[in-house]
Amino acid sequence: TVPAKEDHVDVLIVGAGPAGLMLSTWLSRCGVKTRIVDKRGTKIFNGQADGLQCRTLEIFDSFDFAHRAWRESNHMIEICLWNPDENGRLRRSSRIPDTIPGISRFQQVVLHQGRIERFFLDSMKEHGNLSVERGVLPVSLQFDETKAADFNDYPISVELRTLSDDEATPAQRQQHHKTADGQESTLEDGLFRSNLVADDTDDLIRKTENNRADQTELIKAKFMVGCDGAHSWVRRQAGFKLEGDSTDYIWGVLDIIPITDFPDIRSRCAIHSASEGSVMVIPRENKLVRLYIQLQATEYNKSGSKADRSSITPSIILKSAQRILHPYKLDYTYCDWWTAYQIGQRVGDKFSLQERVFLAGDAVHTHSPKAGQGMNVSMQDTYNLGWKLAHVVKGLSEGSILKTYESERKSIAEQLIAFDHRFSRLFSGRPAKDVMDEEGVSMEEFQKAFEKGNEFASGVAVNYGSSPIIAKEGQVVSKPELATKLDIGKRIPSFKVLNHSDGRPWHLQELLKSNGRWRVIVFPGKLTEPANMQRMQTLGKRLEGQGSFVRRYTPPGQSIDSVIEVLTVHPGPRAGIELLDIPDAFHPYHKDLGWDYWKVFVDEESYHEGYGQAYENYGIDPIRGATVIIRPDQYVSWIGEADDYDEMSKFFSGFMKQQAAGKLSGDGAPRL
Ligand code: FAD
Repeated sequence: TVPAKEDHVDVLIVGAGPAGLMLSTWLSRCGVKTRIVDKRGTKIFNGQADGLQCRTLEIFDSFDFAHRAWRESNHMIEICLWNPDENGRLRRSSRIPDTIPGISRFQQVVLHQGRIERFFLDSMKEHGNLSVERGVLPVSLQFDETKAADFNDYPISVELRTLSDDEATPAQRQQHHKTADGQESTLEDGLFRSNLVADDTDDLIRKTENNRADQTELIKAKFMVGCDGAHSWVRRQAGFKLEGDSTDYIWGVLDIIPITDFPDIRSRCAIHSASEGSVMVIPRENKLVRLYIQLQATEYNKSGSKADRSSITPSIILKSAQRILHPYKLDYTYCDWWTAYQIGQRVGDKFSLQERVFLAGDAVHTHSPKAGQGMNVSMQDTYNLGWKLAHVVKGLSEGSILKTYESERKSIAEQLIAFDHRFSRLFSGRPAKDVMDEEGVSMEEFQKAFEKGNEFASGVAVNYGSSPIIAKEGQVVSKPELATKLDIGKRIPSFKVLNHSDGRPWHLQELLKSNGRWRVIVFPGKLTEPANMQRMQTLGKRLEGQGSFVRRYTPPGQSIDSVIEVLTVHPGPRAGIELLDIPDAFHPYHKDLGWDYWKVFVDEESYHEGYGQAYENYGIDPIRGATVIIRPDQYVSWIGEADDYDEMSKFFSGFMKQQAAGKLSGDGAPRL
């Protein structure tokens, strides 16, 4: 059938899980013409992933919805480690903080994936009137290589078909089970989205072969992103593979309201029994507790061959937990969700086809769920990609920046798999009986790995390598010694600074909203020093000059801060300097809006919220100062002298595209 409809889009996203929704949120903020389709008729409503790492919350905050997750979630404060004593009896061996103190202004929280998807959906609707098209499936992909070099062209053609309601809703077995008080209850089959069930994409494609023309549509896209999960159809079409091991480990997951005498049920616990296996306890929102249990092979392949999913039930998972927790008792009346799935530790060989078709999330990495990484790393993949796509689509950046998606995210995926290998072995192994027991896992080693793993798992340790947008080495030289506690390639840590004009404290990261802007943060040093004020005058003049890098890369008619925003953080005293003493370039004047009072900040003690000590915490000398360039996703790109205009300009000229000359709003209007 020839499709009745045809549409041209900048970006087509396949799959509306966490990775797809993060991407569509970015693109809707940046005004990019986007469509996002998902083969399922509904979002998910409970279960699946649940942990939100502190870096993910920082990202949510940059989109203005972290507060929703923060309020609704359960906050994970402490981890308790339990293992057998010399008599084999389970006892608590230590408690450690769940999030390393001071690592972020947020700590790890837990909330189920369905709520998180809801926050994204609301935000997309509000900011870009974008919704997910559900029950829609791509059935063919054509890629015209001859068009790939021109980023204004549409090399991708995809046929979409709309599914019937039945097709978009896979049948679920209703599971009957007995609750603790002996009642019969039915529970939906938690396996229906699990990888223990064969993927239905090919069946669905076959079923739609005779669709009517009005149920099909041809999409021409500049870019396409496969966020379609572990079985990724897009990955198959692109001819890419996942490399690594597919283990035989099967994990059972149970979300219940527990009835128990185990004392740490409201803490995150890693429990190693002497010989019955291990369980991870995750306290959740709404009185729920999640149990992750690695099932023993005898529990799921009774027939002796491959995993037999019909033998996995909530009561099998519960019984396993009861054995591990012995002599403590555990039962439940209410079960919210359960599943089981098989762990593969694998990474995609390629993340993009000529920087036009990309893969993200589970489509390019799969691993175990224990460190709560799947959803977080998946969202962080597309957080990395979204602004880059938006800049290229809008003609602000050269297409070459898209190469950094694979160079940055593939190494994170590889680190994730290596981490998961190490952690899995320690988590799943039998505890060592004593120091001579080489086969067993030393509990000291496990605790150390947990502590070390927590830094990796928090997401804040991510450190991107050198590239045109990370000036670690190469043509543009950074001077890291000017901000000794900042790392080029890592996200900027946050400390409180005060608005110069009204004294209100802000976390520095709160000033770095995800709206696609680059930031040049000038730390000018004390402005009561005449030499420093003089440097600001000179830098201000150059920033305002006709060919300045701020003007050159901003399309005519837009606000002067819409592509590169200049922020200032001076070390005070606030009382000694008036905003209008500071050159105009640092607080632009808009004809109808007056001065911009939200660009200049001061590192001083606040009346009510303490003292952030930003200069000290960033390792910046309060006399010499420094300037830091921050990417639209909050990663530090460049550190240099406060007034080194030439190096800043050289940095941007490596990848930004010159715009037509024209008047900008807020560019140096005369003073009143
Ligand atoms: P997904 O969330 O898998 O989203 C992919 C989306 O693409 C889906 O909505 C799917 O319907 C859609 N799709 C797939 N194929 C097509 C197609 N051909 N056309 C159109 N749409 C398509 N992680 C944890 O951290 N903790 C957990 O406890 C946990 N439990 C899990 C339990 C299950 C049953 C599963 C499946 C995963 C679990 N995970 C868990 C992993 C976590 O959910 C994923 O890492 C995370 O959701 C990855 O996000 P994603 O957006 O990449 O992919």
